[in-house]
Amino acid sequence: GSTIGIVGGGQLGRMLAMAAARLGYKTIILEPQENCPAAQVANEHIVAAYDDRNALEQLAELCDVITYEFENVPVDSAEILSEIKSVFPSAAALKVSQDRVSEKRFLNNAGIQTTQWLSIENEGDLEAALLAFGGKGILKSRRFGYDGKGQVRFSGKKGEDAKKGFAAIGSVPAILEALVDFVCEISVIAARDEAGNIKTYDITENVHKNGILATSTVPVSVSSTVAGLAADAARKLLEGLDYVGVAGMEFFVLANGTVLANEFAPRVHNSGHWTEAACAVSQFEQHIRAIAGLPLGDTRRHSDCVMENLIGDDIAKVSEILKETGAVVQLYGKAEARPGRKMGHVTRITKRL
Ligand code: ATP
Ligand code: MG
Ligand code: MG
Repeated sequence: GSTIGIVGGGQLGRMLAMAAARLGYKTIILEPQENCPAAQVANEHIVAAYDDRNALEQLAELCDVITYEFENVPVDSAEILSEIKSVFPSAAALKVSQDRVSEKRFLNNAGIQTTQWLSIENEGDLEAALLAFGGKGILKSRRFGYDGKGQVRFSGKKGEDAKKGFAAIGSVPAILEALVDFVCEISVIAARDEAGNIKTYDITENVHKNGILATSTVPVSVSSTVAGLAADAARKLLEGLDYVGVAGMEFFVLANGTVLANEFAPRVHNSGHWTEAACAVSQFEQHIRAIAGLPLGDTRRHSDCVMENLIGDDIAKVSEILKETGAVVQLYGKAEARPGRKMGHVTRITKRL
């Protein structure tokens, strides 16, 4: 059998390792934290920092192909790995996704529409940008943001202070996005193999609470035209990046049917967790197939469903959820349930097709 290396040891790495095992692969994770979710299921765990050259070289020697489960793997590390073994998706794709300005630029250059945005280096830039957007916008740090962290919303009301807003995200390089008045948010999980074949799962409708994904529902309430626009954009993105693996792409849908790309993740995506319950081949297996050179699997949905994230204290509901018919539960093996921490998820089958 072959061995797959995974940089990062969170829940996504855990579920990738589980899918890899089902296909007969061994997995080795590289993750500084000893008791991480993926360590409980991977075959080996190299405990080291993501930029530890010796550890990276060791991982590359031991594996046949390497991937990652989060987008903040240092690009230099991906390049070190790439010199020794195949790394999918590429370091270049990783790089584009790590910085919201390069991400938006890439999307726009690929002909994918986003909300208006301006790059922010200092308070003066922010004041000018807010003026340009009628006082309304979302300020986001360019790098390292997730679950709505590193963001400040300006609603155009009196008393909002650009200075304070910039300080609140740590006065780091940022982007101001024009505020989108969306009717809903949707996402696409798409996969591309080395030969360039692309498969997409059905579009998902997502609801966020406090900046964190709460639920993903399939089918969506939007028209098939709107869903088609999102799937086309995902295809353009994957082709533009010469991407290999699974990616998740988020969109805003406007009342007039316009679809604006929000961001993409160069990895399996929380809004694709439902695929393990409602498709023959989950996004996790699909990613393993794509990077291991196996044929991409069937993405058709055999059931309608709703995925709910179990965040923080939600985990206490598990004993009740386990009594439900048609509930597919996945827990991440995290010992401590801190507020805002993703502990697991449940996908409820609402209808068999
Ligand atoms: P993730 O955990 O998905 O990576 P993130 O921290 O990268 O999240 P975004 O996806 O950029 O953050 O934003 C989080 C949520 O905030 C969005 O799903 C959306 O609900 C809202 N949001 C973000 N940008 C805008 C915008 N320009 N206009 C209106 N709402 C927005
Ligand atoms: Mg994000
Ligand atoms: Mg997001």
